[in-house]
Amino acid sequence: MRKLFTGRTAALGAAAAALALTLSACGGSSGSSPSDGAAGGGDAPYTVAKDVSLTGSATFDKIKSNDKIRIGVKQDQPGLGFKDAATGEFSGFDVEIAKWIAASLGYDKSKIEFKPIPSANRESAIQNGDIDYYVGTYSITDKRKKQIDFAGPYFVTGQGLLVKSDNTSIKSEKDLDGKKVCSATGSTPIQNIKENFKSAKPVEFENYSQCVAALKDGSVDAVTTDQAILLGYASQDPDKALKVVGEPFTTEKYGVGMAKGDAALRHFVNKLFTDGKDTWTKIYDSTLGSTGTKVQQPAVDDYK
Ligand code: GLU
Repeated sequence: MRKLFTGRTAALGAAAAALALTLSACGGSSGSSPSDGAAGGGDAPYTVAKDVSLTGSATFDKIKSNDKIRIGVKQDQPGLGFKDAATGEFSGFDVEIAKWIAASLGYDKSKIEFKPIPSANRESAIQNGDIDYYVGTYSITDKRKKQIDFAGPYFVTGQGLLVKSDNTSIKSEKDLDGKKVCSATGSTPIQNIKENFKSAKPVEFENYSQCVAALKDGSVDAVTTDQAILLGYASQDPDKALKVVGEPFTTEKYGVGMAKGDAALRHFVNKLFTDGKDTWTKIYDSTLGSTGTKVQQPAVDDYK
């Protein structure tokens, strides 16, 4: 399985720089990015389906009776799930994946309610029925699969490290002894640090942007989470004072979180991913991949 953004640090730097260009080019744009379209018109690479029937999906029945889709997302992860403070618009790869699913279920952008939910609250939001599905850097794990189901994976990345640009002591995960390492509560990276890096000092916040602020003010030494997320922070840092170091040291497969037992919805989304490779590529190319970094769409794992 290929990982995103593997390669040397120099390559990571190049990828981050390219991502920066992309993100600034797309930031606040009202142009032709898929986030303007699609599920809301425009030139998105997917159309709003008509007369969708999805027998046996309790989630779809609820969507129909509410006449809207409530989607859990992240709001502080540039390039993946990001809310523009000025316009209130959500953008990024995950947000486009979420809108593609909604469009395929027959719901355009005007019928989507995006609900920002931090890492630790995802399973409960799905179990409580607060959201219909969740798309936000959500790794498929056996532990989580005891509480909810996942469609996908639709993307693969791995845990990485973000430090200040002038840091010379942390070059990889081998250099974390005695270091304050920040991640989000309830995430796979904080769990990995606690379980497998016993000499590191874990620091937790609800959201990664709080970790990034702590890194910048010197109260932690590193931020750890998926490299795809960290590259967004590095490239969007207004002071250009952050860098991603090392290689990804886990494999994180992103899934769409949904209610446990809704096999009809899970199969629907898995079929969408399997049949919609061209759409996936267009979404990827216009968001995370607009730097020119090519990755393969992962094969869906249609577990029964
Ligand atoms: N993919 C990891 C996870 O699901 C880290 C990113 C996140 O917290 O959303 O825990």
